[in-house]
Amino acid sequence: MPTFGTNNMRLKLPLYQKILIGMLLGVAYGWLSIQQEWQFFTFNYIQPLGDVFMRLLQLIAVPLVIASLVTGLAQMKDIASLGRMGIRSLILFLTTTSLAVAIGLGIANLVKPGEQLPSQVRTQLQESYTTSEAGNGQLLTRQQQVENQPALQFITDSVPKNIFGAASDNGNMLQVITFALLLGLSLVLIPAEQGKPLLNFFESLNAVVLKMVDLIMSVAPLGVAALMASVLSNLAAKSGGAVELLLALGTYALCVIAGILILMFLVNPLVMFVFAKKFKFADLKQFYSAVFPAQLLAFSTSSSAATLPLTFERVEQHLKVRPRVAGFVLPLGATINMDGTSLYQGVAAVFIAQAFGLDLSFSEQLTLLLTSVLASIGSAAVPGAGMVMLVIVLKSIGMDAAGIALIIAPDRLLDMFRTSANVTSDCMISYIVNSHETGD
Ligand code: ASP
Repeated sequence: MPTFGTNNMRLKLPLYQKILIGMLLGVAYGWLSIQQEWQFFTFNYIQPLGDVFMRLLQLIAVPLVIASLVTGLAQMKDIASLGRMGIRSLILFLTTTSLAVAIGLGIANLVKPGEQLPSQVRTQLQESYTTSEAGNGQLLTRQQQVENQPALQFITDSVPKNIFGAASDNGNMLQVITFALLLGLSLVLIPAEQGKPLLNFFESLNAVVLKMVDLIMSVAPLGVAALMASVLSNLAAKSGGAVELLLALGTYALCVIAGILILMFLVNPLVMFVFAKKFKFADLKQFYSAVFPAQLLAFSTSSSAATLPLTFERVEQHLKVRPRVAGFVLPLGATINMDGTSLYQGVAAVFIAQAFGLDLSFSEQLTLLLTSVLASIGSAAVPGAGMVMLVIVLKSIGMDAAGIALIIAPDRLLDMFRTSANVTSDCMISYIVNSHETGD
């Protein structure tokens, strides 16, 4: 319930309400800005506010991951319990991601959104792709880079050559995690007395970074409002006269959104019932109210990495997950556990195949399942990454990467949904792993 301070009349609302209000104001402003053609003002004076908020969140991602992983590992009783937690997390990551792709494939095969796409619209989409990419070529270059990589490239990429190089780019989060894991592990293995000064340093860093999260979250409503306003205004500017093209992709977009909602509100609870210890129906309410603000922030930023600071706060403070579990599962999950992304990649690949009149065999669908799992693991936790990695999925069934042209238009919107699902799954897995841990 909202409470109003009596002395200073300060409005005190729960975080999720503040973020929701920010989102609604952002959408309302964005809509007005499109109607009134305020794009110039929005681009010059509103978008920078959203960008600053995103940067602030990204700014603390690397120190947060290092400090929380190292301090988390240092609290482990022994290496065996670390191993158990690691294996449990990995099994859950893989199980939930595979389930998500299976849902995506199931929906796309059932609804067949690609067969409803008129061939003339398909040609139009392909043409607009070629002309727009001729201008900046960025997406194409990134896709070509991905195209020429082995599917297991993410394993090579997870080991940094230089920690400063890795820490200088948020896209290298997996490398930062590898370093932090090695550091934390070595810290446990050396005599406690020798490790103490370094551990004190990381504990102190951890506390400071969490305070930074608090400070940054105090401007979240404003940041979220600005992000929503600029996303809307950019979407309108990009689709321009091509609204009917967007509408032609409506069934495909609805398939992705429906799949993600099924995943978040039907499959995730089932997974918790099956895997979490002593999970009761009443715990579901606690789970969703704890993670709701993180889901909203994921929706607004389209980045699991940018949401990570808030995910930590929600999971540790509100789900009461032990810091050593959260410190291990959340950074790893934000980087490799992407259920929403893998579901989306499954739907998108089948949609593109259907639009080109290809009938996928059972073994091709199995290949899609496997490569979508791998591609989602390899996707960076930043906006749009899942679409770039779709190239690997398409290649695996012998399709041309240019097929991505068909699904670019609604991607920003779908990214918002899939990122929310990605973050929800990370919270869920930390909760499940925590339920199997004993001691503090
Ligand atoms: N934006 C997603 C995330 O950060 C990744 C994706 O593009 O699917 O989780």
